[in-house]
Amino acid sequence: MPIIKVTEEDFKKVDLAVSRLTEYFNAGAMELRRPLTYHIKTYGCQLNESDSEKIAGYLEEMGLVETDDDKADVVFFNTCSIRENADDRLFGNLGVYKSLKKQNRKMIIAVCGCMMKVQKNIDKIKKSYPFVDLIFDPQQLHLMPILLLKSLDTRKLAVEVEDIDYIADDNRMHVARKRRFRALVPIMYGCNNFCTYCIVPFSRGRERSRDFDEIISQMKSLAKEGYKEVMLLGQNVNSYGKDLGGDKTFPDLLEACAKIEGFSRIRFMTSHPKDLSDKVIDIMARYDSIETHLHLPCQSGSDSVLKRMNRHYTREQFLRTAHLFREKIPEGSISTDIIVGFPGETEEDFEDTLSLVKECRFDSAFTFQYSKRPGTKAAEFEDQIPQEVVTERFNRLLEIQNALVFESNKNLVGKTMEVLIEGQSGTAADILTGRTKCNHLVNFTIPSELNITKTSDELEGYLGMVRITAAKPYSVEGILECLKDE
Ligand code: SF4
Repeated sequence: MPIIKVTEEDFKKVDLAVSRLTEYFNAGAMELRRPLTYHIKTYGCQLNESDSEKIAGYLEEMGLVETDDDKADVVFFNTCSIRENADDRLFGNLGVYKSLKKQNRKMIIAVCGCMMKVQKNIDKIKKSYPFVDLIFDPQQLHLMPILLLKSLDTRKLAVEVEDIDYIADDNRMHVARKRRFRALVPIMYGCNNFCTYCIVPFSRGRERSRDFDEIISQMKSLAKEGYKEVMLLGQNVNSYGKDLGGDKTFPDLLEACAKIEGFSRIRFMTSHPKDLSDKVIDIMARYDSIETHLHLPCQSGSDSVLKRMNRHYTREQFLRTAHLFREKIPEGSISTDIIVGFPGETEEDFEDTLSLVKECRFDSAFTFQYSKRPGTKAAEFEDQIPQEVVTERFNRLLEIQNALVFESNKNLVGKTMEVLIEGQSGTAADILTGRTKCNHLVNFTIPSELNITKTSDELEGYLGMVRITAAKPYSVEGILECLKDE
């Protein structure tokens, strides 16, 4: 598949489309005597969240204002095709817009993201949801203003889905970041791995690494702008640079980012166990600004299942990496992804997964019941596991894993830990929430004797020292001892 580098000329066309759309939306706002609004529904992973921040950036440049109200003037659905229920959620939500669009004829509805790489989904939208204005795939995000303009000019559904992999300079795009303190920074796009259960290589194309200097320049700007946390993103960050000739690799990039002053937390996601080198773990241990948390998806503990998943590592290799991390960064944490009930998984295979989980003592895990994704190899495998068996195994795994998470949380009680404050917790107005350097979720209170006058909103992005007082099944509780930044 060809990889096209988006040129300055292309971006000039995008700028032109942005200015024409700005005129269009300004006229609409004058007519309605209120600012026009946008709402983005984002499904799936952090890469989708990052894409949505770019869509929001473009829309805000056109004069639209974000709203939580899903009856906005412009609504985007940024879809995910990893899990089956994501499809159900999209089509369930989309149905409501038929009548909404009758009430507001100028409402614009766009659907993008990984699901729009599957022809069946596009056909379904064309047939059952004809009020949708625009469909495009994740590869064409940078062209969104041009595509939106096309749909408005023609007043017809514009479908822009192509088998071309683009790489565009992210620094040239507008980003409306969701959090004041956190910046999502994609370092590469796509994936070359073709795990047999996964649609990503088809929806996001082959691996394209961003230019090393371009990323570093973006990181320096983000540090200057005051971002405390950055998350380097890619489907497989550890293979960064392979497509650029291999001179600069992920450890080089991670180290160069860690040397930039200003960040409290540098995070990265996702690591593939076959590509994660010992050097990355060494660098994590060496630099204080890199979080001491590793997300390392094992998917299964059975060699035969791993083989059929096309994962290219063995149980032994995975365990070696996990043990090395524990040895070099004893205060760190490991999270993982596990799929239960992959086609052909025997009881013995599943027992291997349980024993791997117990041996690694994962601090948290995203556990999934296998579901067929159309277009993947595994969907064609004949030995699909009956749902009742999958559910029974899943519940057994959950019981063990939940106990491990609780135990990991209990181990923190009595410690005083540095927490990056994320704002008010969802539970009560006087409880704040944040994360430790090893990514544990901490809910905490501020004792009145500290005389802190800042609101929870103002404290977003501050570092605080929190004494952990209690463990909960999925989080810990604590009391703030002091703010570090004052
Ligand atoms: S590494 Fe495998 S699971 Fe991850 S995005 Fe690539 S194909 Fe999908």
